[in-house]
Amino acid sequence: MGFSKLGLSPKVMEGVRAAGYTDPTPIQLRAIPVILQKKDMIGSAQTGTGKTAAFTLPMLTLLGSHQPHIRCLVVTPTRELAAQVETAIRDYGRFTNLKAAVIFGGTGYGRQDEQLRQGVDIVVATPGRLLDHMERGTVRLDRVEMLILDEADRMLDMGFMPDMRRIINKCPKGRQTLLFSATIPVEIDRLSQWALRQPEKIATEAARSPAATVTHTLYPVAEDQKQDLFLELLKQTDYNQVLVFARTKYGADRLYNALRRLNHAVAVLHSGRTQSEREHSLNGFRNDRYEIMVATDIASRGLDVEGISHVINYDVPQHPEDYVHRIGRTGRAQTVGDARTIMVAEDLIHIRAIERFIGQTIPRVKLNNFPYLYTRAFDAKEPLRLKSMRVGSTYFSHSGRRRR
Ligand code: AMP
Repeated sequence: MGFSKLGLSPKVMEGVRAAGYTDPTPIQLRAIPVILQKKDMIGSAQTGTGKTAAFTLPMLTLLGSHQPHIRCLVVTPTRELAAQVETAIRDYGRFTNLKAAVIFGGTGYGRQDEQLRQGVDIVVATPGRLLDHMERGTVRLDRVEMLILDEADRMLDMGFMPDMRRIINKCPKGRQTLLFSATIPVEIDRLSQWALRQPEKIATEAARSPAATVTHTLYPVAEDQKQDLFLELLKQTDYNQVLVFARTKYGADRLYNALRRLNHAVAVLHSGRTQSEREHSLNGFRNDRYEIMVATDIASRGLDVEGISHVINYDVPQHPEDYVHRIGRTGRAQTVGDARTIMVAEDLIHIRAIERFIGQTIPRVKLNNFPYLYTRAFDAKEPLRLKSMRVGSTYFSHSGRRRR
């Protein structure tokens, strides 16, 4: 079924056509009619499923045409995600006269104040700077008709729960509220009971399973050889663009410097960098100026960069959900992707947790022509006992191709 029967306005439909979409994704098919009926909704959808358009298209339809006060507020955990959502709103809404502003910290107030003064229909914001604006009186939420909390579980992880409650409290009681969250931990469930009214629950695909279009593999190695293996893995990978995840800011910087010394076109993204550095990195990565970006988990949620053919986890994520989010950065919207995770002996426990979480074992792979030292990481002999086990824990060799 196409978009035409979903009840979107003609101007929004023009935006959809201009974006080149022919068919709605499953979450769009289910969420758009519910949102258009002004119902509250909890959506648990995987990243890369078209979630942003699922709430943006009906939101633009409901708002109709420009009025100079904030009627819709979208709250996101990171600045990058806020900027991305605002871009989507501009794209889909380009044939409407609705106005949107994006508000986040790490940058001056000047432009944000100016946009707000001129009057916007939609604000997309991260919690901290939004609260600053509310205290300064430059943002008022008393005419908000629609509140959208995106990546709510990530906001919880980042300690934004008290901020979220303060923001929600300032919105009118009669508003429509949409909450998107990959997982629904008990705190989010409690929040939704308090902030939402008889929400429709929409879950497309299990939030636990990584996108079916992504292949994933594990590279066990001795701790001392980790960086060497990473560099060799990169050499043997035929990539378009690679997103590399490191556990810490320091670790990300260290890898970034190592790659720069080898003359790679590389960028780095983590919360220790200034806002302009973060923007420079992400824009450069989006525009293909950089072929590699090294990042912390700040980049693991929701980011949509078309050219990412590979995700490499230099460090194993500590939370199983983050594994799914990280590898969701590749293989987005029906394209194929490849996720490779380097593991050392201490990671075994986390790998087990990830495999249990996603319900499958991840194949172990050895690189050709790499002078492996022995490590306990090779000894994960007993495979997980899963009903639908796809691959055992035996090694098979991997013949990567060199790039270009
Ligand atoms: P999201 O999950 O919102 O980050 O979206 C993931 C990607 O899917 C984005 O690049 C969107 O432009 C794309 N997308 C969203 N909806 C559709 C659709 N109906 N058809 C094709 N691509 C889509």
